[in-house]
Amino acid sequence: MSLKTTNEIDIVRANSSKINDVDFDNLSFGSVFTDHMLVCDFKEGQWGKPVIKPYEPFMIDPSAKVFHYGQAIFEGMKAYKDDNNDVWLFRPDENYIRFNKSAVRMAMPEVPENVFIDGLKAILEIEKNWVKKGLGNTLYIRPFMIAIGSGVIAQPSTQYRFMIILSPAKSYYSGEVKVIIAEHYSRAANGGIGAAKAAGNYSAQFYPQKLAQEKGFQQIIWTDDATHTKLEEAGTMNVFFRINDTLFTAPTSERILDGVTRKSLIDLAKREGINVEVRSVLVDELVAAAKDGSLKEIFGAGTAAVVSPIVGFQYQGDYFELPKIENSIALQLKDKLTKIQYKLAEDTFGWTVKV
Ligand SMILES: *Cc1c(COP(=O)(O)O)cnc(C)c1O
Repeated sequence: MSLKTTNEIDIVRANSSKINDVDFDNLSFGSVFTDHMLVCDFKEGQWGKPVIKPYEPFMIDPSAKVFHYGQAIFEGMKAYKDDNNDVWLFRPDENYIRFNKSAVRMAMPEVPENVFIDGLKAILEIEKNWVKKGLGNTLYIRPFMIAIGSGVIAQPSTQYRFMIILSPAKSYYSGEVKVIIAEHYSRAANGGIGAAKAAGNYSAQFYPQKLAQEKGFQQIIWTDDATHTKLEEAGTMNVFFRINDTLFTAPTSERILDGVTRKSLIDLAKREGINVEVRSVLVDELVAAAKDGSLKEIFGAGTAAVVSPIVGFQYQGDYFELPKIENSIALQLKDKLTKIQYKLAEDTFGWTVKV
């Protein structure tokens, strides 16, 4: 290993790379990691110096608060390579701001920009060979923070670890997605942590999702917890509905995560002259639109899959299949957004940032 110290970040390079052992044509999402990781610890009220070092397991005390009280947050973003071998990020400032909002909600310290943004650029510079050229190839980026302070007393930790790990990924294809509309379980509630990217929001979904899968549905469309009448999110994605030629998506709230993909698709759709209405859609409206044929599309939106078309939904025991349509808005918007991300189309919004 060779140790290189910049002013801001210590770098300990791996002796060799695993990259030649990786089959980039057959990647299963989120299972292979690059040679290095970024680690930065918080203690005694301040952040230490970030270190980029070989990817490896680490030890923390069994009483660490992350294990007992779930103080854990994360982000999900991607790096893309253009035809000139330059590496690009998509709206990383949005992920950075959201990460710190999540931190505040979970009583965790905010991460400084030189750790999150500069750290991200530094590790991507080292791992740029892991970002492969070509539409659909990406390096998935997982920044996260956990409470590592020991002691099972139920209080926020005084010690934290911020990390960035990287995983090469092919574009995520989820197959045919049928969804069930939630009538009992909830992902989020007013005053809760649904607007934060907190680890516990995900584990809370696993059981209802398992029940849905046993009935043959891949995902759940979450409704508001109080009345189960308003459509809110599709699994861990924001959700859009196309009724006739208008796209609808719910406004963000304490229950709905402010997705970067969601807001980018809204801006793109408006630019393309598509009618977009940001308002809650009622379950009853959706059922009526499915019955009279005005419901044309439903799709999820999030970084991993970009856009994930839904083929049908079940509500109160009735299944509604969506019509098969040519030239769907979902796929048009996906194509436009990914071309911006890969620098194949002009980025009129200034969303892309070169590493
Ligand atoms: C991460 C996430 C999204 C999508 O956000 P993007 O920034 O578009 O990736 C949507 N809903 C939930 C609940 C999420 O956790």
